Amino acid sequence: MAKKQFKAESKRLLEMMINSIYSQKEIFLRELISNSSDAIDKIYYKALTDESLTFDQDNYYIKVVADKKARTLKITDTGIGMTKEELENNLGVIAKSGSLAFKNENEMRDGQDIIGQFGVGFYSSFMVADVVTVISRSLGSDEAYIWESKGVDGYTIKTCEKDEIGTDIILKIKDNTEDDNYDDYLESYRLKSIIKKYSDFIRYPIKMDVTEQ
Ligand code: ADP
Ligand code: MG
Repeated sequence: MAKKQFKAESKRLLEMMINSIYSQKEIFLRELISNSSDAIDKIYYKALTDESLTFDQDNYYIKVVADKKARTLKITDTGIGMTKEELENNLGVIAKSGSLAFKNENEMRDGQDIIGQFGVGFYSSFMVADVVTVISRSLGSDEAYIWESKGVDGYTIKTCEKDEIGTDIILKIKDNTEDDNYDDYLESYRLKSIIKKYSDFIRYPIKMDVTEQ
């Protein structure tokens, strides 16, 4: 299947993300966990008004799984998931809230500051990953989709299997460079400290699992 192109403004944001300085890269996890929490909120609020749905607290959580051998970090949630259209529209285009700031050309000058100040969203994954895979199944749908991107050159989307409603974001963590130690993002002490620093207020459980080899 042909690769689809990101919108021009998304491309610019992606390039900025990819070239951001190391000290800010850790915020990718805050962004992904906040998206997972938002997705669970959506089911929670739906259950308040939809009698066919019950929200059982125990079934709703976020899980962070690092696999050192595969060099992958997976963020799983049992949230509302995304349809094929939502994957295309929400991940293929620069996101809404935090990204409003990027519309101002002047603010684009200093990418570093922007990353620190605003929620930069899903694209921040590309600061630490060279491949990002999203597997999602939306509430009420029997179909699941796999979205995959290596960054600025676009993304692919295909059908796949997924038993549960929700979303898995799988990051193929970059190899270490002279300046940046990406291995850190597969270490449980490091992941725990990032979660503590930025995601302490999240109201759903954040589980963690690190496989050593
Ligand atoms: P924002 O959270 O500010 O909208 P993001 O770039 O973080 O921007 O995310 C873009 C959109 O992608 C979200 O608004 C949401 O619709 C969708 N999305 C991202 N992650 C998830 C997820 N884990 N579950 C469901 N939808 C998601
Ligand atoms: Mg977000």
